[in-house]
Amino acid sequence: MVISPGWCLILEVKNLTGELIFNNNPPQLICIKEENKIAYRSPESQLDQYLFGLSKFFEQHQLKVPIHGAISLPFTNAIIKTPPSKYPLLLGRAVINHIWSLPKKDIIPSKQVADLVLQHNAAPSWNQFPLSRYYGIDPADIQRGVECPHCGAIPMKRLKRTWFCEKCKKRHMQAHVKALKDYYM
Ligand SMILES: [Zn+2]
Repeated sequence: MVISPGWCLILEVKNLTGELIFNNNPPQLICIKEENKIAYRSPESQLDQYLFGLSKFFEQHQLKVPIHGAISLPFTNAIIKTPPSKYPLLLGRAVINHIWSLPKKDIIPSKQVADLVLQHNAAPSWNQFPLSRYYGIDPADIQRGVECPHCGAIPMKRLKRTWFCEKCKKRHMQAHVKALKDYYM
């Protein structure tokens, strides 16, 4: 989110490459890469929701703030088969030109808006419920690290873009997901 004295801009940033198709009906983003087709949530309907929520938020605080939305792709090597219809799509550094193209006005207390947004955006304090204490387990007895989805060995070794199991010699790119889920539990 960019806050200026004239407007707020919400950027929905997608780190995607390959061929991209922005569909409206049903709202979906299709990404085709190396013969794989993956469907994502539509960035346009995401932006619709963010803009709606933010305008309600400003209304509640008696603030009149023009809100803009755009979809941003940091990588310029994506191939756009069908562009989005409702919001501008900004590739790479085009985001800078887009910001320059927005009205230059001094109509909102941008500092106050920023403080208000930050204040309401604070994450709830994390309740770290220690299961080790609950179950009477000495944390030193816990094997730490990423578990191998193939053989269960801990820890896997981090290589470039993947995890490697020194026991069964297999690789798994998503092996950390389970460790993160365990952590949040
Ligand atoms: Zn293994």
